Amino acid sequence: MTQSKRILILGAGSGGISVASRLAKVIPAGAITIIDPSEKHYYQPLWTLAGAGVVPKEMSEKSQQDFIPSGVQWIRDSVVHIDPERKQVQLTQGNKLDYDFLVVALGLRLCWENIPGAKESLGTNGVCSIYEYDQVDKVSQMLQEFRGGNAIFTMPPVPIKCAGAPQKIMYLADEIFRQNGTREKSRIFFATAGKAIFGIPVFAQALEKVVKRKGIEPLFQHQLIGIKADKKIAIFLVTDHEGHQSQKEVHYELLHIVPPMAAPHMITESPLAEQDGDQKGWLSVDKFTLQHKQFKNVFGIGDVTGVPNSKTGAAIRKQAPVVVANLMSAIKGEELASKYDGYSSCPLVTQVGKVILAEFGYDGTLMPTFPVDPSKERRSMWILKRYLLPWMYWEGMLKGRA
Ligand SMILES: Cc1cc2nc3c(=O)[nH]c(=O)nc-3n(C[C@H](O)[C@H](O)[C@H](O)COP(=O)(O)OP(=O)(O)OC[C@H]3O[C@@H](n4cnc5c(N)ncnc54)[C@H](O)[C@@H]3O)c2cc1C
Repeated sequence: MTQSKRILILGAGSGGISVASRLAKVIPAGAITIIDPSEKHYYQPLWTLAGAGVVPKEMSEKSQQDFIPSGVQWIRDSVVHIDPERKQVQLTQGNKLDYDFLVVALGLRLCWENIPGAKESLGTNGVCSIYEYDQVDKVSQMLQEFRGGNAIFTMPPVPIKCAGAPQKIMYLADEIFRQNGTREKSRIFFATAGKAIFGIPVFAQALEKVVKRKGIEPLFQHQLIGIKADKKIAIFLVTDHEGHQSQKEVHYELLHIVPPMAAPHMITESPLAEQDGDQKGWLSVDKFTLQHKQFKNVFGIGDVTGVPNSKTGAAIRKQAPVVVANLMSAIKGEELASKYDGYSSCPLVTQVGKVILAEFGYDGTLMPTFPVDPSKERRSMWILKRYLLPWMYWEGMLKGRA
C-alpha cells in the first residue's frame, strides 16, 4: 500500500532529515521526496559555543548530501506555496509537485524586520547575534574586543528556538570579560521581554543564583523594538507591573540581539496555519499526534509546529518517531497511536565546563534523563553538551538511529 503513496517532506533540517531517515527504513525507495535549497546542514546548538570561541563555527556545518538517506529524492529548491486542498506544493521555478502525504519541517523565520536598524547593523558598531551562522565569528570577535561599558543581551517574546541560548552566550561573555580584565569596567544586562529568567520555576531559581553570582542585571519586560546603531542606542518597549507601556533608550557598547521569530510566510499565509490563540500563525497540529488538525494527510515536526513546547533539536529527537509511526498508521488507515509528550531539553551553559541540563515536557513537567538533581550546574552535563550531543546528532538522530 505504501508503494503507491507519494510522501513529500518540506525542509531538510533537523526535523526533515530525522523523519526522512526513519521513513526510508520502512517505505520503498522512490516514494519519498525532500525539498530544501540548502547545500549545507547545520547543527545550530553549537553556534552558542562558537560565538564564545569555544569551538570553530565550521564544526556545526556539513554537506547536506551526506545526510540524504538512500532511496530519498532531494530537490534543491524552495517551496513558495502549499495548497493543502489540492495536495500540491509549488517551487520557486513554478514547478508543482503533488503529494499524498506531507511532512512540514520548514523551521522558522527570524523576524529581523521587527527591530528597525538591527539587521543592517549586524557585525558592526557592537551589534551581534549567534542566531545567524554568518555572524557567529563576529560575536566571538566582539566579545574578545569588548573594552567595557554596557553589554546588553536581549531576549524577544517567546516562542523562539532554544529559549536558553540568549542567556547562555551572556554567561560565556561574562567569563570572557573576566579573563580579559574588562568585567569590572562593564555592566551586563539581560533585557528580556518576559517576566522571569526562565519559564520553569526550578530552573529559574537556579539561574537567578547564577545571575546574582555573576553580577548580571536582569531587565524584565524589556522588549527590544529598535536600535540607533550610529549612536549605539537600544530602544526598548517597557511594560510596568500595572501593564503600562513606555519606551526607554539605553546606551550600549555591545548589543547581542535575538530577534523575534515566526513560522515561514508560506505557512502563516496558508490554511495550514493556526488561526487563533497562542499558536496563531504556526503550523496547526495536534500537540500529541503531530497530525494537522484539519488536513489529516499533513504532519509537522520541529520549530514550525504550533505546539506549546520549547522549540529545540532535543524536542525533534522525540517527535521524529511519533511522526513516522503516525504517518504510517495514517497511510494504512489505522488510528494514530503514537504520542509526543512535549519533551524538550536545554543544556543551559553557565560557564565553560558547567551546564544545567533542563529537561521538561508539556506544562513544565520535569523529565530528567539522569537520576540526579537537574537544577545543579554539572561538569558531566557540559561533557554531554560539548562532545556527546553533537556526535549523537550527526551519527544518531540524522540517521534515524537515536
Ligand atoms: C543559537 C542556537 C542555539 C541552539 N541551541 C540548542 C540546544 O542547545 N539544544 C537543542 O536541542 N536545540 C538548540 N537549538 C535549536 C535547534 O537548532 C532547532 O530547534 C532545530 O534545528 C529546528 O529544526 P527544524 O528542522 O525545525 O528547523 P531547521 O533545522 O532550521 O531546518 C529548516 C530547514 O528548512 C529549510 N527551508 C527553509 N525555508 C524553506 C523553503 N521555502 N523551502 C524548502 N526548504 C526550506 C532550511 O534550509 C532548513 O534546512 C539552537 C538554535 C540556535 C539558533
